[in-house]
Amino acid sequence: MRIRAGAASDIGPVRSNNEDTLLVSDGLWAVADGVGGHRGGDVASAMAIRVLRERFPTSEPSKRSLVAAVQAANRGIFDAAAEDENLLGMGTTLVAVAVVDGGQLAYANVGDSRIYVLEDGALRQVTADHSLVGELVRGGRLTAAEARRHPRRNVVTRSLGFEPQVAVDSDTLAPAAGDRLLLCSDGLSDYVEDDAIEAALVRYDQPDAAAAALVELAIAGETLDNVTVVVLDVADA
Ligand code: MG
Repeated sequence: MRIRAGAASDIGPVRSNNEDTLLVSDGLWAVADGVGGHRGGDVASAMAIRVLRERFPTSEPSKRSLVAAVQAANRGIFDAAAEDENLLGMGTTLVAVAVVDGGQLAYANVGDSRIYVLEDGALRQVTADHSLVGELVRGGRLTAAEARRHPRRNVVTRSLGFEPQVAVDSDTLAPAAGDRLLLCSDGLSDYVEDDAIEAALVRYDQPDAAAAALVELAIAGETLDNVTVVVLDVADA
């Protein structure tokens, strides 16, 4: 499988540091959105990406080994937070996509960062948000538009680093040539409607241009957060 990747990240107009970290490498891509006072958020998201990269195997990669790498990242952040009071309470979301055996892609998700897929010009969210509003939307008690404006939209119900073990959502995808995947932090998805994300992904051919356009949309949408996106084009499947 050949994948072309583009990425962009921006501190946004309000925050004083960028606590998002992204990974674009050969066969493995990810976005992590850190939380925690002082430097904790930066440390947690950077550690998640570093451990993911170190632990994900280069030979015989599988969905299972992707999940194991995410669990190792969780444990690493949890242990680091327990050893340093300046890092107490740090955590991070993580979405990751990897090429695995059998010509498929696997994904993993913890938290409220998102993976979308654009198939035949139509955008579909692949991941379920581990957030209070995500649970309310799945239960039919809130619409997606209401969730985007909800005062408690930032309450995450699952993250890396808060417990010694974490449940990781994962599955495989069988993309076709021409499909496009988007990994993003909530600095995009809380401030830009899915229709506008879809339109930008359809409009910009090059993945780097699409990624830059999405970050600009979030800033134009007055995002209060850091914004990070990775765009993956399936050149042949
Ligand atoms: Mg965020």
